[in-house]
Amino acid sequence: MEDELILKENPTLGDLQRYVRKMKEMRQLNLTDPRLDCMMLAEESGELISAVRKHMKGGSVGSGSQTGEIELEMADVLIILLGMANMHGVDLEQALRRKEEINKQRIWKRI
Ligand SMILES: [Mg+2]
Repeated sequence: MEDELILKENPTLGDLQRYVRKMKEMRQLNLTDPRLDCMMLAEESGELISAVRKHMKGGSVGSGSQTGEIELEMADVLIILLGMANMHGVDLEQALRRKEEINKQRIWKRI
């Protein structure tokens, strides 16, 4: 059954959202509870930050490479975010475009 789950080469953001929708359906993961996804996003974000902290300390982490764990935790965060977008009917590419149009109007202050 997992064999049917194929992520195409050079996917668009929409392709990634569709892949995550299918993956969550096939694995019977949360498709309806927005609170659970919020908790998962916080948890996975914490794991990503922890991996970054380990990397900053010079630790050898993850799958042999120094950034291996960071890479995998970033993927976890992305998966949760894509699932949240699906749950809320958000087209992430359109959201990004819309937000960047807003950001272009902002005046950015350097700290
Ligand atoms: Mg994780």
